[in-house]
Amino acid sequence: MLDKLGLQLEQRKTEHLYRTRKVLESPQSVEPIINGKKVLSFCSNDYLGLANHPDVIKSFKQAADKYGVGSGSAHLVSGHSAEHHALEEELAVFIGSERALLFSTGYMANLGVVSALCDRHSEIFEDKLNHASLLDAALLSRAKRIRYPHLDTNNLQQRLIDSEAVNKFIISDGVFSMDGDLAPLNELVNLAENNNATLMIDDAHGIGVLGKKGKGIIEHFELDNKQVPALIGTLGKSFGTAGAFVAGSEELIETLIQKSRSYIFTTAMPAAIAAATRKSLQILAEESWRREKLQSLIGQFRKGASELGFELIDSITPIQPIIIGASEQTLNRSEKLLEKNILISAIRPPTVPEGTARLRVTFSATHTEEHVDKLLAMLNEVTIK
Ligand SMILES: *Cc1c(COP(=O)(O)O)cnc(C)c1O
Repeated sequence: MLDKLGLQLEQRKTEHLYRTRKVLESPQSVEPIINGKKVLSFCSNDYLGLANHPDVIKSFKQAADKYGVGSGSAHLVSGHSAEHHALEEELAVFIGSERALLFSTGYMANLGVVSALCDRHSEIFEDKLNHASLLDAALLSRAKRIRYPHLDTNNLQQRLIDSEAVNKFIISDGVFSMDGDLAPLNELVNLAENNNATLMIDDAHGIGVLGKKGKGIIEHFELDNKQVPALIGTLGKSFGTAGAFVAGSEELIETLIQKSRSYIFTTAMPAAIAAATRKSLQILAEESWRREKLQSLIGQFRKGASELGFELIDSITPIQPIIIGASEQTLNRSEKLLEKNILISAIRPPTVPEGTARLRVTFSATHTEEHVDKLLAMLNEVTIK
């Protein structure tokens, strides 16, 4: 097997699917230093500009002085600090749920929730464009998996009606990570209620960004928290730190603590990360100007891009992809932009469906109008429409 790896890697290169990493030599920001040069970046998920916020850094340092670096063990052994506990309580209050439970990453939160609540007698209904961690979570649970076409609630309804499973689980991204569009949450809530199914929403890209108060897609659609019994939020995006949480009922959270393997069998995130996240939660909740600024940058970009004739996806979020199509051309545009000191990642299959390779532009509240003007001018120079 291993003797074939070289050949397979070569094959990837000829298909323009080979991935490489860029080395960051500065904090995450809209102007990071990458491979030794300062660039203007449009590819971070640090939507609110909190990853390098001085107050968040200060909280992190103070907690490191008090708690050290490593948490030393899993939450159920001796790794669950007062900072973790306080963050969970504050997240529950912010979201408006009974409880919240921290996980070390969003990927693990998704694996942990789905495999704790589903088994081989369950049926899981997933949007085709759900995040990889949600697809993997369903696989790990051994449930029967049904993937409905993107946003197609009619198809989902029929599949639910046809299902004979007792435990039916509908899972969707809130904001789709590669397209930036929103799940039809009202319809999903109704379908779950009418078909005796459980709804789980992964709002990794919505929390902090959507809704006046930043509570995410549930606030955006003015729904009640109870209508989404299992809500996942991640901390590595808008919060600018690391980790994830599940928000839900007392019974859900207690069940996860007892049964969720990716919660039980892993080291707790460092206490200082929890402390830093408490500060970023406070900033995220209080400083609504960050969300307003994002909306204004997004509006400026969409107006400019459509005037230039670019095809945009119907997205109100900071994720604004420009579909190119072929992997080779997408990679080529991304490289040309980098020559002009603009960093935008080329997203190719299998991350996105065949023939939909794209430049995934993302915005941060710390971008300026001049940054967006520059982006539009450079895109126009390198992109054949
Ligand atoms: C980023 C992301 C995750 C994974 O979260 P991590 O904390 O980075 O592991 C899960 N779901 C979605 C939709 C995401 O975009």
